[in-house]
Amino acid sequence: MPVEIQLDDLVRLRKLHPCGSYDWRVVRVGADIGLRCLKCDRRVLLPRREFEKRLKTILKGDDALAALETARLENASRPEGAPAGGSKSGVKGRRK
Ligand SMILES: [Zn+2]
Repeated sequence: MPVEIQLDDLVRLRKLHPCGSYDWRVVRVGADIGLRCLKCDRRVLLPRREFEKRLKTILKGDDALAALETARLENASRPEGAPAGGSKSGVKGRRK
């Protein structure tokens, strides 16, 4: 059964992002799922099947608020203007 997700949903994945966050915001829904990391703002595009495999839970209500709060606090503790690390290549992705 397909996972029902909507734009702007917050999701938690099974695999830790290199920046240390599990939590992502859905920024695109289609054949591919676009996700933006709550912590480092990195964007990825996953085929829906791949996304469903990696998805642990969709964050709702209090869980979503808690995830946002955590991301905000951790972002605030990062020095101003410090890059999240690595090159930005591939951020734009490919458009059909
Ligand atoms: Zn990240």
